[in-house]
Amino acid sequence: MGRVNATYNPYDNVLRVVENAAAILGYKEDEYSTLKYPERELKVSIPVAMDNGGIQVFEGFRVQHSTTRGPAKGGVRFHPAVSHDEVKALAAWMTFKCAVVNIPYGGGKGGIICDPRTLSERELHSLTSKYTAAIAPLIGPEQDIPAPDVGTNARVMAWMMDTYGMLKGHTVLSVVTGKPLGLGGIKGRGEATGRGVMITAQNILKKMNRQVAGTTVAVQGMGNVGSVTARLLHEIGMKVVAVSDVSGGVYDPDGLDIPEILAYLSQTRNALLCDYRTDSLIHLTNAELLTLDVTMLVPAALENQINGDNADQIRAEVVLEAANGPTTLEADEILEKREIRLVPDILANAGGVVVSYFEWVQNIQELCWTEEQVNTELRNIMDVAFDEVWESAEANGKTLRMGAYLIAVKRVVEARLGRGIF
Ligand code: GLU
Repeated sequence: MGRVNATYNPYDNVLRVVENAAAILGYKEDEYSTLKYPERELKVSIPVAMDNGGIQVFEGFRVQHSTTRGPAKGGVRFHPAVSHDEVKALAAWMTFKCAVVNIPYGGGKGGIICDPRTLSERELHSLTSKYTAAIAPLIGPEQDIPAPDVGTNARVMAWMMDTYGMLKGHTVLSVVTGKPLGLGGIKGRGEATGRGVMITAQNILKKMNRQVAGTTVAVQGMGNVGSVTARLLHEIGMKVVAVSDVSGGVYDPDGLDIPEILAYLSQTRNALLCDYRTDSLIHLTNAELLTLDVTMLVPAALENQINGDNADQIRAEVVLEAANGPTTLEADEILEKREIRLVPDILANAGGVVVSYFEWVQNIQELCWTEEQVNTELRNIMDVAFDEVWESAEANGKTLRMGAYLIAVKRVVEARLGRGIF
């Protein structure tokens, strides 16, 4: 999967979209300028005693883009391509994501430049604990609540919660979300982002008067989000013809056996699709997957996958952004001209943070929701947000991305103006 390229700055991309939205909303510079600057940023160095006896110093970040509508909220990414600008962009996207689904949070994000696949369990634990201790002055249930993102999972969240509790002298369940079930986690969080993507797929297909059953879809990325998305889209009857991971993709025009592929990938920690073989399967690159002739394309990996270089080769009718920032502004414009509909990340992948919100509420209230409750409430929120974004885009004659930003920017600016400048 293409790494984030050096000349592309995702934070600039966010700023341009926000400026365009603010102009359409008629805001003066003074009214929305706070949105351009992250409120608080922390860069930390994290020395870890490695298994080989040496010491490796990792670089980490935590950025709070906004706490205007509530505590900062957002995941922690462990990936070699993490950078300061990437974390800033991811934090800003969280602000607008939480605003578009109308949950009482601002936006934040964290990251460590590392490759978790090459670290042992002990090294990963040590890295996580030291990072948590380093960012502890910033986080807390009422300040900033981390969660999983690319390269992190429920186990990493358990370690973060443990470290924070050690520093405080007592367990604080609500300091992170996406925890294991036995440790204050909520049922359904593990698959919530993918479930939200599936709900959004159903919603957009309905608007396009397309059947769900048999509609072809390609999913780029088989991480936390892509794997659940592929499984759920397969379960509702869509024909998943291609999936990929960091090693490349597999394609079968007659539809892939998704449960079998997922079983293969879960066999070992570092199982890769390039080693997966069946008779009918065609192996292809990530770049080739993006340009397949399918109805729906779901980028569920990293930023900057659909860009000025390949946007004119996309053949899907609809792009559903399960990843954060997979499409650049330049590509947005090309897709719009080509009448390819795009459902933006801040709407399509909001299911994760919505269920994180339920988890936080559950922890604070010391309650336990059933999975059915979680999924019903998730669907309600995703459906309302989808309809609002659709209406906003239609009413303004804009793309769904701009429709979503018009709602989100307005909510954040109104909150800012309502609070006044301290
Ligand atoms: N990392 C996820 C996202 O980008 C979830 C964040 C959260 O649950 O706070 O939306």
